[in-house]
Amino acid sequence: MTKSGELQKIKEDMEADKKLPLISKPEDVIPGDGNPDAKIVFIGEAGGYHESVQRKPFVGQAGKLLDKGLKAIGFEREEVYITNMVKTRPPQNRDPLPEELAAYSRYLDRELEVIQPKMIVTLGRFSMGKFLPGGIHGKKFMIKWHNRNLVVVPMYHPAAALRNGNIMSQFREDFLNLPKIFEEVNKPEIKQMDLI
Ligand code: URA
Repeated sequence: MTKSGELQKIKEDMEADKKLPLISKPEDVIPGDGNPDAKIVFIGEAGGYHESVQRKPFVGQAGKLLDKGLKAIGFEREEVYITNMVKTRPPQNRDPLPEELAAYSRYLDRELEVIQPKMIVTLGRFSMGKFLPGGIHGKKFMIKWHNRNLVVVPMYHPAAALRNGNIMSQFREDFLNLPKIFEEVNKPEIKQMDLI
């Protein structure tokens, strides 16, 4: 199966999963979106109103800021993959509950298994908590994830940046630093053969 086919299957499995919380009909699912071959995956928290209508992550105000950030560092949204910890909209946009994060976690794991990104950018505390309970925004962390090396860069959530000017400055600074981190992460590996 192609990577797109596998991602489509993950979406259909979520739509059919009667045990998933916060879903009353299949259309409530907001699947991940973007390039199945992306080297960078951005992970947010959960959908909001606009995401639930368009069934696409980060398409409201926070998404516009994310798009702007991507453009500023020379990436098109279509080049990366964007998804959420919880792939639906919690009532009144409240924070996801631990049991909701746990229930959706295996679907996020499956997305990452398909995409095999080199780098993950977590947006906000919930996605940071999945990989790095003690992370610091803007810093690069190398972790082992399902037996693979993965670089994780925690960032503030764009919605938090929109609410607070100081966080916006940090968000901007961290975003502008992403290409440098990505360049290091994306360096071709020196194979033993090249050294002979
Ligand atoms: N906030 C998120 O965390 N995810 C979205 O998709 C939209 C807003």
